Amino acid sequence: MCTRSFDLVNTFWHLEYEKIEKLDNLQWLNTYLLPPEDQLDTISEEVVTALKELRRFARALFDGNISDDAMVKLNGYLASAPYYPVVETTEDRYRVTFKPDGDGIEKLFADVALELANLMTEAHLPSVKRCQNEACGYYFLDSSKNQSRKFCSKKCNNLIKTRNFRARHKI
Ligand SMILES: [Zn+2]
Repeated sequence: MCTRSFDLVNTFWHLEYEKIEKLDNLQWLNTYLLPPEDQLDTISEEVVTALKELRRFARALFDGNISDDAMVKLNGYLASAPYYPVVETTEDRYRVTFKPDGDGIEKLFADVALELANLMTEAHLPSVKRCQNEACGYYFLDSSKNQSRKFCSKKCNNLIKTRNFRARHKI
């Protein structure tokens, strides 16, 4: 399940529509990008700049800008992402999974890098779409069978449907 890379990239919405940079706001980061166990007291300007760079990179991949350079860069992110193996039980067997290590920001970087790598290697990048509600524009993963999803949520879908209906019927 890819969620953290989308949450990070979708902060562009606030920047473009509201002219507000959410990544500069530690309280917002703690509320929306970091889980309760990873809350931060402080964040350095350097880390915020690196986070913005990661967001730019992730968005370029979402937009289909995949090149050898992008792969090298992604491998750089992965190389600095510490993971450790954990044995877990599933219904009928044990299996090994990998958990990110470090502080909240390191885990965020690691998760986003791994999500991007999975999207790339599992050929899911073509399923990354932008919501066609122009006032929204959120990126989402279309996991529908026929790849026909146009909107990020039911809310956007209903809003545009209602708008189109009204336009057609001049209500
Ligand atoms: Zn939307």
